[in-house]
Amino acid sequence: MKVQDISREKSSELFEKAKNYFPGGVNSPVRAFKSVYGSPLFIERGDGSHLWDADGNEFIDFCCSWGPLILGHNNSEVREAVQAQLGKGLSFGAPTRLENELAELILTNNTYIEKIRFVSSGTEAVMSAIRLARGYTRRDKIVKFEGCYHGHSDSLLVKAGSGLVTFGETSSAGVPKSFADETIVIALNDKVALEKVFVDFKDQIAAVIIEGIPANNGLLIQDKSYIQFLRDITKENGSLLIFDEVITGFRLGFEGAAKHYDIQPDILTYGKIIGGGMPVGAYGASAEIMSNISPDGNVYQAGTLSGNPVAMAAGIAALRILSQPGFYERLEQTTQSFVAEIQAFIIEHKLDVQISTVGSIFWFAFEAKEKIQRADQIDPNSMLYYKKMHRELLNRGIYFGPSGYEVGFISAAHSTEDLATAITSIKESLLIAFEA
Ligand SMILES: *Cc1c(COP(=O)(O)O)cnc(C)c1O
Repeated sequence: MKVQDISREKSSELFEKAKNYFPGGVNSPVRAFKSVYGSPLFIERGDGSHLWDADGNEFIDFCCSWGPLILGHNNSEVREAVQAQLGKGLSFGAPTRLENELAELILTNNTYIEKIRFVSSGTEAVMSAIRLARGYTRRDKIVKFEGCYHGHSDSLLVKAGSGLVTFGETSSAGVPKSFADETIVIALNDKVALEKVFVDFKDQIAAVIIEGIPANNGLLIQDKSYIQFLRDITKENGSLLIFDEVITGFRLGFEGAAKHYDIQPDILTYGKIIGGGMPVGAYGASAEIMSNISPDGNVYQAGTLSGNPVAMAAGIAALRILSQPGFYERLEQTTQSFVAEIQAFIIEHKLDVQISTVGSIFWFAFEAKEKIQRADQIDPNSMLYYKKMHRELLNRGIYFGPSGYEVGFISAAHSTEDLATAITSIKESLLIAFEA
C-alpha cells in the first residue's frame, strides 16, 4: 500500500528562489508547510476540483484556496464575467454599477443585513466591524474566543492570558500591550467565563465577536443554546454581537451561520467566497448601525480598491450560482455521504479519529476524547497523525491544507468519482498514519 513520494524538484527550486524574496519564502505563513512534511508545492493551475503543480503532479483539491472556491477552480461563469470586465478597465476609484449589483444580490437574499460595505479582505472587514462596534457603543473593549481567528489586525492578534488574568496577551510581536488590554479572550462554550467578563467590565464591552462556526482551529461546532446565550447576554448589556462569517458566509448557505442558528447578530463580516476567488471582504448590519460609517457617520473606513470592478464581477457571477435553489442542499448531501463513508471505515478499523462536519466543511480530529468544542481540547501532539496522513495524501494525489488545524472544503466541482478516489486514498492514508 506504500506509494512513492511525488517529485517536488521544480517546486523545491521555486521555493529556494522564493526564500530570497519573501520571509520564509511565502506571502502568508501557513503556506510554508511548517506543520507537514516537505516544502510547499508551487501551483501552476487549477480546473474544477483539480490542481496541477510545477512538477506536473495532479491533485484533487480539498483546500480550495482556504475556502473561497466553493465552485472549484476556473469556473466558466466566473471566468467569463471577469474576462468581460477586463476589457472595460481594472479600477476607477469611483462608484460602478457592479457594486450595486453585488450588493443587491446579497441584500435581497440575506435578511440578516440591511446595508453593506465592500472592502478587500476578511481582515479588513473584521477590523472595520470592530471599529464600527466601538464607535456605535462608545465603548472600547471587545471579547473574543480562544480558537477563533479573525484576520491579522492588531486588536485581534490576541490570545488568552495565563492563569486568572482576564486580559489577553498579544499573539504577535509588534502588537502594543495597550491594544491587547482592550481585548478580552475567553474559552468557547463557557457561559460562566463570559458572565464574569460582563460583571468585571460592566458597561465597557463594545462587542463579543465569534466565528459563525469556528473553523480556523479545527472545526469547533458550538451548540445553538450557547450562541443564543451570546445573543442574550450581549443584548442585556448593551454590547453588540459580531458574527465573523468570513468562512461560513455563503458556505453554510447564502445566509451563513446566522441562518444556520436562526440568530440575528448585530454586525456580520464576510470574505473568501464573496469575491468568487478575487480579493473581496464585506461587513454589514442594520441600516441604523451602518449609518455610523463615514460619510454618513463618524466611523471612518475607506479603500482605494474597495468594490473593485473585476472583483465585483467575479463575486456577482459566483453568488448568482450560489443563490439558485438547491445549491447548498446538494453540496451538503455530497459532503455528508463523503464523511459517512470515511466514518464507517474509522469505526470498522477502530481508529482514534473523529470527523466533525457542517455544511461542506469537514475536519479530522485525532485522539479526540470527546466532542471538541474548545481549542484546549485539541492535543497538539495529535497533529503528528495529520502530518503523516498529509504526506500520504499528497503522494496519492489528494491536496489537503498543510496543517492539521485547518478544515477541508468540498466544492460543487467535486464529482462523485473525485470523492470516491479521495475516499480510497484517505482510508489508506489513515491506516498508515496509525502505523507505529
Ligand atoms: C480567513 C479569515 C479571516 C481573514 O480573512 P483574510 O481575507 O485572510 O484577511 C477572518 N476571519 C475568518 C473567520 C477567516 O476565516
